[in-house]
Amino acid sequence: MKTKNSAHLKNAVLGFAVGDALGVPFEFKARDTFKAADMVGYGTHNQPAGTWSDDSSMLLATLESLIECKKIDYDDIMQRFIRWVDNGDYCPYGECFDIGHTTLTAVGRFKNGYDPVRCGGRGFGDNGNGSLMRILPIAFFEHTVDDILNLSSLTHAHEISLMSCRLFVQLAENLMSGMTKEEAIQNLKCCVDECENIPKIASFPREKIRSTGYVVDTFEAAVWCLMTTGSYRECVLEAVNLGDDTDTVAAVAGALAGIYYGIGSEKGVPEEWINKLAKLDWINGLIDKGITAQ
Ligand SMILES: [Mg+2]
Repeated sequence: MKTKNSAHLKNAVLGFAVGDALGVPFEFKARDTFKAADMVGYGTHNQPAGTWSDDSSMLLATLESLIECKKIDYDDIMQRFIRWVDNGDYCPYGECFDIGHTTLTAVGRFKNGYDPVRCGGRGFGDNGNGSLMRILPIAFFEHTVDDILNLSSLTHAHEISLMSCRLFVQLAENLMSGMTKEEAIQNLKCCVDECENIPKIASFPREKIRSTGYVVDTFEAAVWCLMTTGSYRECVLEAVNLGDDTDTVAAVAGALAGIYYGIGSEKGVPEEWINKLAKLDWINGLIDKGITAQ
């Protein structure tokens, strides 16, 4: 399966992983009880600087599956999630230190023989951001809307999660097509009431932005950070400084900002942050395989 938009793959993946790593030390901290200004270590999960978490693990596992299988193979993706949870594959230091409840339950269902696209939680309470954080690789391969919904359903099958994933992929694709960020937002097709704030989110004051692990809050917060800042660095630091689910908000925002601003120069993903990422050579090798995939 040939990749598409491959010129943006590196910017999106590194933008995502850097955002994740910036947020890891501050995850779950209340807003305005700390100030993130650089990539630092330790804090919440006691990990060195540059450590990324479940968000990047699942995104990279999905990307590797799409590249190696040359198709969307849901069984293979779930097998890789099992190796992530049980063996620490796709982790910076061989151990999974961060996983959502709905994702863990879904992986358990797959181990018990469920069809992979029927493993995801379907209750309202299953609308954490666990599928939003891993959905992006599909934007770089030929896919249908149903493919996005099925990929989310591996872990998160409620309509709100499905629509959030669909909108995030659409937004990334709009940005990759060369639209301004304002055009990219205005051209989204929102299909559930929960997502109706997205097109006007830039006008919301900071105190109205919730940065929790609820998928709609995460997506709104990430889009708000993209729309109200003028560079990658400002965008992801704003995301982390919203507090609470800092790593996922900054990862989702970071992917969008990476696509929009690119890498390096004044506004792009800072090279000094990229160079701090754990397992950078492996990530870059995977990105290169994706760019050249046929
Ligand atoms: Mg995380």
